[in-house]
Amino acid sequence: MTYPTKAYAAESATSPLASTEIPRRDPTARDVQIEILFCGICHSDLHQVRDEWSAFMPTTYPAVVGHEIVGRVTKVGSGVTKHAPGDLVAVGCLVDSDRTCPQCRDHLENLCPNGVFTYNAPDQHGTAPVTYGGYSGSIVVDEHFVLRVPKGLDPARTAPLLCAGITTYSPMRRAGVGKGQKVGVVGLGGLGHMGVKFAHAFGAHTVVFTTSPNKKEDALRLGADEVVVSRDANEMAKHAGSFDFLLDTVSADHDVNSFLNLLAHDGTLTLVGAPSKPLEVSAFALLMGRRKLSGSLIGGIAETQEMLDFCGRHEIASDVEVIPIQKVNEAYERLVRSDVKYRFVIDMASLARG
Ligand code: NAP
Ligand code: ZN
Repeated sequence: MTYPTKAYAAESATSPLASTEIPRRDPTARDVQIEILFCGICHSDLHQVRDEWSAFMPTTYPAVVGHEIVGRVTKVGSGVTKHAPGDLVAVGCLVDSDRTCPQCRDHLENLCPNGVFTYNAPDQHGTAPVTYGGYSGSIVVDEHFVLRVPKGLDPARTAPLLCAGITTYSPMRRAGVGKGQKVGVVGLGGLGHMGVKFAHAFGAHTVVFTTSPNKKEDALRLGADEVVVSRDANEMAKHAGSFDFLLDTVSADHDVNSFLNLLAHDGTLTLVGAPSKPLEVSAFALLMGRRKLSGSLIGGIAETQEMLDFCGRHEIASDVEVIPIQKVNEAYERLVRSDVKYRFVIDMASLARG
């Protein structure tokens, strides 16, 4: 059985998002039903709405995106133990996984070969052809994939932690980012500004690389020790061979070699940005200094809870511009122009206005 909920959907790669209605399943024994209060706008939403990742994960339409969800529990199934009606909870990029593969047993649901993304993934419950995300009024999710929002965190500013937060926290934790290290964050958007906050909180000397000179002051306020305008070759040259770790959050085609050259020997550049076009990598940029190039995909559920709890303890949240859903198409245009400070978050109460 299903029930209808309001949502914003794209009907094709070229059509704007528009008001519609989608089905949600009635909660089963393990399910949590959530009234969505806020949903962040991730650049991945835009990539997928516009089918920019068609070579890797083609978009099924209508597409209802959104995977930075904060909401209030409205109902729970009879077997649910972690959450209760009235709780403030969150859902990120994953809503299911097989729970049996080695990665799931190791709390790495994000790497499960049968993992189900929050939107545009085959719906294991058969409610619709694909899963529908958070640009909607209500969602039903297995309790394992529902996170607790720590007390004291502002709900709108918490939503982006569910993707931008965990995607930057996880690789930096794995790399042991901390005191005594020089760490760079490339691109100051949704992911980048969270990367700066975490690198600073972990105690690293933090450098921001931006193409937007007007973001310099903000970068320092967010926790950067230095800011480099990456299109200035002289400024870049001053940092050659000096970084332990670089996190590349850039959403579009760019020259990754100019950043690899900034790594010290045995340093690592981790890509989290997902441009649709393959990047060109110079062998020499890697050979010289035995440098490493790697990638990272969100994080597991336990680590996502750990990140939220860390944010609760350290009063870390996203810098947001809250918008009504009627402004979502305008926000997408601004996102393409890197005009975001530093995450758009949709106030889902605006859905009632159609
Ligand atoms: P965003 O808010 O749009 O930020 C991207 C930033 O990249 C921009 O603010 C801009 O920063 C920089 N940039 C944009 N175009 C550029 C260009 N042509 N050359 C150099 N720099 C450019 O996007 P986001 O939501 O943070 O997402 C960033 C990327 O990460 C997207 O591709 C997204 O799909 C991906 N992502 C990956 C994961 C994962 O698990 N790996 C999770 C979430 C998102 P400046 O103005 O400072 O230059
Ligand atoms: Zn995302």
